[in-house]
Amino acid sequence: MKELIACHECDLLLPYKALPSGTKACCPRCGYQLYSARNNSLERSLALNITGLLLYIPAMFLPIMSLEMLGQSQFDTVFAGIVTLFAHDIWWAALLVLFCSMLAPLLKKLLLFYVLMGIKHSWSKPPLAKAFTWYQHLDSWAMLEVYMLGVLVSVVKLIDLAAIHFGFGLGCFIALMICAMATSVVLDHHLIWHKLEQVPNQPKASL
Ligand SMILES: [Zn+2]
Repeated sequence: MKELIACHECDLLLPYKALPSGTKACCPRCGYQLYSARNNSLERSLALNITGLLLYIPAMFLPIMSLEMLGQSQFDTVFAGIVTLFAHDIWWAALLVLFCSMLAPLLKKLLLFYVLMGIKHSWSKPPLAKAFTWYQHLDSWAMLEVYMLGVLVSVVKLIDLAAIHFGFGLGCFIALMICAMATSVVLDHHLIWHKLEQVPNQPKASL
């Protein structure tokens, strides 16, 4: 069966073709850019994804900043912030931050790692396709940027009341955020689906 792609502007159905690197495909009816072939998209996505996975633990569990007020200092990590919300019985906020800032970004990275490795090593197609569908669903739930905005707002509010020192965790968190943004720029969804079409339904038997 021929792979089809729909134009987002005028809904024209067109057959998908793998393009040479650096070129783009436009709709013949309305001129809208359908997709572009990014250079080494799979390899670059995998490299960014692995970097993100390595940054995840320090970004979540190392101090983002420390507050010094009235002779007392307190270190804050992303995880400790969620625990504090739970301790104060603010369940809805705790669950939301837990899911959007910790679980969804981690799940996204693990799913993408599984899909990219699966394409590389020709693992079985059905679970890979399912994993990529879940990855796309989770896209709108991973909100590292919103958390960062929250950190900035609290810094502005507290700057006159306490001495604030930024921790190593903040650097890792910013790097993690940049990795996530770069992955979404580099990752070619059309190419992934095209590659998944070519993956066998059963994994290759290793000899
Ligand atoms: Zn069109």
